[in-house]
Amino acid sequence: MGSAARMMERPASVGNRLLATLPSKDLALLAPHLQKVSLEQDAVVIRAGDRRDHVSFPHSGAISFMLGLPKGETIATAVIGREGAIGALSVLGPSFLSSVTAVVRVSGIASQISVSRFHAAYMASGAIRHMVEAHTRSILMQFQHVSACNGLHSVEARMARWLLHLHDRTEGNSILSLTQETLSQLLGVRRTTVTQVIAKLRALGAIKSVRRGLVEIDRARLEEATCECYDIIRRATDRIVPDDAFGFQQAAQMRTSREV
Ligand SMILES: [Zn+2]
Repeated sequence: MGSAARMMERPASVGNRLLATLPSKDLALLAPHLQKVSLEQDAVVIRAGDRRDHVSFPHSGAISFMLGLPKGETIATAVIGREGAIGALSVLGPSFLSSVTAVVRVSGIASQISVSRFHAAYMASGAIRHMVEAHTRSILMQFQHVSACNGLHSVEARMARWLLHLHDRTEGNSILSLTQETLSQLLGVRRTTVTQVIAKLRALGAIKSVRRGLVEIDRARLEEATCECYDIIRRATDRIVPDDAFGFQQAAQMRTSREV
């Protein structure tokens, strides 16, 4: 099938890769209730312990999931962009309270829908349930690899990995808006450690400059400085939520026909 025909299968307005997997009739259950919102740099989309009112599907930008401990330490457990969602797992249980704080790290836009409307559509549509399953698999995979990376790999490799994950969601901009405080929160290390790690990555040429909350990176050198986890997480995410809605639907149909 040619690329023009493939484009027709994909609703033109859908920039979120999860939403793009939905056949038109299933997307129609959500579309009238989806509202475009902007994701402003450093905005807190949801705070741990707060009631989840909305499910958000980013079309662009990056959001990190942050886990905070009682003494004030924080660490990033995942970063998502247009291949993910925020709050979608609210359908899996009765608790509407968020377990993580989600913070915008790269500004963008998202479509959001109320949790109650999303839940009603989830109950009515097998394709939407399948979409939530794919998101669940992808986020669990990321949690597992991030926890392995935190235990096994150096802080330099981990910082390089987060910078690459964020750069993947900037549409090519090699200047990331990140303060040293933000890097310290993402990595779960002290500011002094961040300063030392930045110096090491600068010596390798992987970070070109750091000033006024802007970090300029050299992508090729960052890829040399990071661990294998970056590639594993990226490939696994692309396998679970392909950047190709047509392929995803074909795979889902094949699975369904095998089950029948
Ligand atoms: Zn690693």
